[in-house]
Order: sequence, then structure tokens, then C-alpha cells
Amino acid sequence: MKSDLQKKQNIEEDMNKALLDNQFLMYLQPKYSISSGKIIGAEALARWRHPEKGMISPADFIPVFEQNGFILKLDCFIWEQACKKIREIMDHGLTPVPISVNILREYIQTFDVISELKRLIDKYGIPQPMLELEITETLDQHGVEDIVKKMKSSGFTMLMDDFGSGYSSLNMLKSTPFDVLKIDRHFLEEFMDSDRGRKIIEHTISMTRDIGLGIVAEGVETCEQAMFLSSCGCDSAQGFYYSRPIPAHEFIDKLKLSGSI
Ligand code: C2E
Ligand code: MG
Ligand code: MG
Repeated sequence: MKSDLQKKQNIEEDMNKALLDNQFLMYLQPKYSISSGKIIGAEALARWRHPEKGMISPADFIPVFEQNGFILKLDCFIWEQACKKIREIMDHGLTPVPISVNILREYIQTFDVISELKRLIDKYGIPQPMLELEITETLDQHGVEDIVKKMKSSGFTMLMDDFGSGYSSLNMLKSTPFDVLKIDRHFLEEFMDSDRGRKIIEHTISMTRDIGLGIVAEGVETCEQAMFLSSCGCDSAQGFYYSRPIPAHEFIDKLKLSGSI
């Protein structure tokens, strides 16, 4: 416990300087079409390159930032990096693919996320559909529903992150107008193990399609998983089998290589 507390204190001491010194980086993890093998989008993920401690994993710093509120500053930075990247792709004369960013319920009710995102979209002159928003399903749905509705009516594509990771997925699906559902990595991994589990995945995918939502599978690590998803009618995948998250500056080359443009 002591070392956890120490870790947390170290993170809190370093975070403001880290933002000023550009120690936070945006990585991009491409999303692929299983059938064509082409890149169809990407997710923006934060990394912290600490001058002494090296790369710090989001699992270590995101929960601390969620608690102390710093996550909003980091997210605003990542959102801007994502918009900048879309602009850069367009400036190369390439057709951009949507980049999704993570949005948290911790600040969603108190900070005007919509105005900030619209400001960034205007600043970089990018098409709004190129910036997609991911929100994790949550136990505390209160308020999230209204905000998702508002974001959607402001023109944003809304992705429900980590579907099947717990909480009340079906309730949230019923009441909140998401556009795309992202199947959680653990859900895929654990349920693929048994006939019963595979049936549940299969029907989750067909139900999702039936109600008119898009679907992306997260954490696809094997060819077998990709083939299974494809046979169930899910054509979009994000996972180490296709690509790990990569530094943003490598993304354009990867996009060109995948033949998506
Ligand atoms: P997430 O939004 O669900 O992002 C997907 C996570 O799964 C990423 O972990 C990604 O590296 C990992 N992943 C993708 N494919 C595979 C795979 O095939 N196998 C395995 N084992 N893992 C895979 P990462 O980057 O460590 O981020 C963890 C979580 O931290 C994210 O989960 C997200 O909730 C949060 N996060 C990361 N960056 C940001 C950020 O900039 N802002 C906010 N608010 N949250 C962030
Ligand atoms: Mg996400
Ligand atoms: Mg996820």
C-alpha cells in the first residue's frame, strides 16, 4: 500500500511538468476491416514517456488522473493531437479515416466537452465525422444518457467502449443512442473458450446489427478470433493481431501501406 501511495504521489508531482515538457504522446491503434485488410480508423491512446522512468503505462497514470481531475487536461491535449493528425493526413492529400478519442464521465457533466471539440474541429478545419467519441459503459449511468444524446445531436459519432466488461451493458444499450458498440477484449477472450460463450458473442453481434449499430471488436489477438468474428458478421477489428498502438508519426505510412487510401 505504501508503495502504491508513493507511486501516486510521484505521478502527481510530475504530471504538470510532463504536460508542459511534451512527455505525453498520442499513440494510434489502427482499426481494420477483417475482409479487406484495410485500415478503416484508429483509436487515440495516451502514453507517458518519462525522462527517468521511461514509458509509463496508462494503467498506472489514468486512474490517478481520474481521481485528481488531471485527466481532463490530458484528454484536451489528446483531442487536439487527434485533430492535428487528421489535418496532417488531409494536408498530405490523403483521405482521412476517423480517429476516436476517449471521453470520461468524470468531467462530462461539468466541462463543456462539445464546445471544446467543436472549437478544435474548427481550428483544424477537419470534417466532424473524422473525430469519433468513445465512452465506457458505466454503472453510474445517471447523466451519461443525456450527454450522449446531446453529443449525438451535435453531430458526433458515439462509440460505446468496453461493451461486456461488466456493469449494465444492456441497459445502457437500450437507453443511450450509441452509433457503434466496441466489444471488450476480455469478453471476446473469455467467451471464445466455450460453445456457449461463442453463441453469446454471435448473438451479441447479430443483435447489435439488428438494432442498427456498427460493431468493432477490441483486443483481437489471433487469426482464429478474427475469422470467428467475421463469420458472426463483425468486420471491424482492433487488436495486436493487426497492430499494436503505434506512435502517431508512424500512422500515415501504415495507412498508405494498408492500401486504405
Ligand atoms: P481502451 O479505451 O479500451 O483502449 C484499448 C486498450 O486495449 C489499449 O490499452 C490498447 O493498447 C489495448 N489493446 C488493444 N488491442 C489489444 C490486444 O490485442 N491485446 C491486449 N492485451 N490489449 C490490447 P492502453 O493503451 O493501455 O489503454 C488502457 C485504457 O486506458 C484504455 O482502454 C482507456 O480506457 C484508457 N486510456 C488510454 N489512453 C487514454 C486517454 O488518452 N484518455 C482517456 N480518458 N483514457 C485513456
Ligand atoms: Mg477506448
Ligand atoms: Mg476499450
